[in-house]
Amino acid sequence: MDNQKNHEIRLKSRPVGLPTPDNFELAETAVPTPGSGEVLVRNSYITVDPYMRGRMMDRESYVPPFQIGETLQGGAIGQVVASNGNTAFQVGDLVQSNYGWRERFVSSGGDIQKLTPAPGTSIQSYLGALGMPGLTAYAGLLRIGALKDGERVFVSAAAGAVGSIVCQIAKAKGCYVVGSVGSDAKAAYLKGLGVDRTINYKTCGDLDAAVAAAFPEGIDVYFENVGGAHLQAALNKMRPFGRVPFCGMIDMYNATELPPGPNNLALIIGLQLTVRGFIVPTHYDMLADFHRDMAKWAAEGKMQWHETIVDGIANAPAAFIGLFKGENLGKMLVRVGPDKAV
Ligand code: NDP
Repeated sequence: MDNQKNHEIRLKSRPVGLPTPDNFELAETAVPTPGSGEVLVRNSYITVDPYMRGRMMDRESYVPPFQIGETLQGGAIGQVVASNGNTAFQVGDLVQSNYGWRERFVSSGGDIQKLTPAPGTSIQSYLGALGMPGLTAYAGLLRIGALKDGERVFVSAAAGAVGSIVCQIAKAKGCYVVGSVGSDAKAAYLKGLGVDRTINYKTCGDLDAAVAAAFPEGIDVYFENVGGAHLQAALNKMRPFGRVPFCGMIDMYNATELPPGPNNLALIIGLQLTVRGFIVPTHYDMLADFHRDMAKWAAEGKMQWHETIVDGIANAPAAFIGLFKGENLGKMLVRVGPDKAV
């Protein structure tokens, strides 16, 4: 690809079922020139996230749908490489934005935020463990899940960006933690993080039986990332007054027909469960507490994270599709430029 040009990924067609590379288009454009008061940003990392699959459908949600022919959007971290008289940003500033899926963009400054990484942290971790997915884990488990020290916690998609942080917060709180994952390598990774037990949902056979065996005393908090059979199995083992934060249901994001619901929802009544959905934008008031606690846990050796980094903007669609095939351990990211461009 021509390094003197800008590259970006546009939505070519709306996916039906699992997205394919044909649903995306790699576009080459001239590097944009900042107008008066504007800056040019060179992205270093962009994020691909499961929620983006919902935005590829033509339906209203808590975020508007992507439009065909338009450049996709999402979190990005980059550096200001040129300024045309912008007083708020200097060349060299690290910035966060929602202008992902592209190498470069121009901004007036109103829609980018300066990023000052804490000592010892990488810039890309602010798209993962120290960014949106990490805060999702923190708010979902502690505020929505109202976790108490020493409880019994079940986490699905447990080796992913959100799940791996949920597991470690729960361990830091002295909980018994079981994670469900789609490979033995992911199970081994979680064991290394101190997770008490793992279930490989692809090879365990009867998921209900596996969850029951892992929780002889039942589940206090089920952190829901997957839905479907996981939800059914978790509900069957919930303890009275248990909580189920509904974070995501990746099992149905590519469904072409709505799957049958769990047939055991009546358990919610008798067990007096709290089942509550949430979206992370509502919980940014917790950001300072989250960063404080993450720094403390990391210093105590109770928190670590992994990123799966795919290189090159042209490979962003494959990285995105890979989320639905379990190709990521920890946060899936795409490196689209150097960490330091100036
Ligand atoms: P992950 O890093 O966890 O990546 C997705 C993982 O999901 C894959 O690696 C795969 O792991 C697993 N997976 C994919 N398809 C299936 C399936 N059919 N059944 C079971 N597991 C599957 O992604 P995130 O951490 O970014 O997101 C996790 C969940 O949290 C998603 O549901 C997402 O939508 C939700 N979310 C919600 C937010 C909110 O504000 N409510 C914010 C951010 C995320 P494996 O190999 O183990 O199968």
